[in-house]
Amino acid sequence: MLGHEFEAVQNKKLVDFVNMLDVEEKPILRSKRPATLAIQTQKRQRGEYYYFRRNGSSFPVSVTVTPVIIDDELVGTIEVFRDITRERTNEQDLQKFQRAVAEASDHVVITDPEGKIIYMNSAAEKITGYSQQESLGKKAGSNALWGGLMGKDFYQEFWSTIKKVKKSFTGVIKNKRKDGQIYDAAVSVSPILDNRGNVQFFVGIERDVSKELAIDRAKTEFVSLASHQLRTPLSAINWYTEMLLAGDAGKLNKEQRSFLDEIYHSNQRMVSLVNSLLNVSRLELGTFMVEPEKTDICEIADSVIGELQPQIKKKNQVFTKKYEKKIQKILLDKKLIRMVIQNLLTNAVKYTKDTGKVTLAITQNKKDLLLSVSDTGMGIPKSQQSQIFKKLFRADNVREADTEGTGLGLYIVKAIVAGSGGTVRFESEENKGTTFFVTIPLTGMAKKEGTKTLA
Ligand code: ADP
Repeated sequence: MLGHEFEAVQNKKLVDFVNMLDVEEKPILRSKRPATLAIQTQKRQRGEYYYFRRNGSSFPVSVTVTPVIIDDELVGTIEVFRDITRERTNEQDLQKFQRAVAEASDHVVITDPEGKIIYMNSAAEKITGYSQQESLGKKAGSNALWGGLMGKDFYQEFWSTIKKVKKSFTGVIKNKRKDGQIYDAAVSVSPILDNRGNVQFFVGIERDVSKELAIDRAKTEFVSLASHQLRTPLSAINWYTEMLLAGDAGKLNKEQRSFLDEIYHSNQRMVSLVNSLLNVSRLELGTFMVEPEKTDICEIADSVIGELQPQIKKKNQVFTKKYEKKIQKILLDKKLIRMVIQNLLTNAVKYTKDTGKVTLAITQNKKDLLLSVSDTGMGIPKSQQSQIFKKLFRADNVREADTEGTGLGLYIVKAIVAGSGGTVRFESEENKGTTFFVTIPLTGMAKKEGTKTLA
């Protein structure tokens, strides 16, 4: 280990051929060396040092020097040393990790399986305003500290995810600083499991996202305002075009009529885009109202089908409706549920070629109503299925086919259905067809005060 030949050091004192440093890598006095101390005190000495090899390189060692005493007389010492380079490296790596966590700019908290804090880093102290000392042993996320502001359902889902399912939980929550200020935090809490799969502790990482959310809100407010302002001139174009087409300003020749038809049609598209943008912003800002009343969903569906008849006829499609006999009336906002059905049926008709089939089925389960809209159309490419509910997303196949659309319809559908406690999903195969499934709980939509209705 030291690089010395036995013959060369035989009968020599260790101190004469092994140079050493103390644990802080500073030179050490001969009188303080463990062997000297063992001889002086006649007691075993233990410690960690650096030894030099014959080639001048040094390495960390753990040393034990035991005095050998026979008949009360010190006859020598036994020195045992172990190269601890690997332990040192592991320890240094661990220290690096600890420093990285301590200095990280995100709030990091470690809790025991009950959620009681056993560690928090300085960012957590800075963001929440609570010191580690006053937080230790208290429950993270309780109102004794910065949490406890979310509803019962939230905490149920939170604990079930991290403790029962043993998966990470991510989401945005409201927290309260020590000074009372409320802020939004993006959180991710992960259970750390032992070899047997039991939760050893939880690691929670949070980031104050209040600023980002405020910017998002400002952007949405801008879109809302701009779309609202755009509606007035668009309505004017609509009226005047309709008047011209009706011959109110004199008879039109063929070319004039065809140009005006073009203007009218493009304007309609613009109105529909602006209305969709306005709806998206109202859904995001939460300013829309929900006014539920006992509603026969089949009646609403029939009225949407009626409205779509011209397109269905034009494309020579086979439209089938299958309503279960006893569909109960439930509390629904007529305008909102109409928007859901309208978007799904319009898509089915729009993305299905001439002579294709579109089917609407409504059934009642124990706890919810199930709507399914199937078509034999172009389908959604597998690789893009995960993006279909995203704002403004349109799949490549429908864009190539030159169909009209804004990519906002399904985003709106999802927001309305999720807001009603329901679900929406689909199954699709390219060039074969698509089926969308929507469930709405029989308990219906909850009333919501608001200043705006959806357009
Ligand atoms: P768009 O205005 O483009 O129809 P949507 O939000 O309603 O916007 O739909 C988003 C995208 O989802 C569509 O552009 C299309 O790619 C795909 N999609 C929706 N419904 C269908 C369907 N029935 N068949 C095939 N693709 C569909």
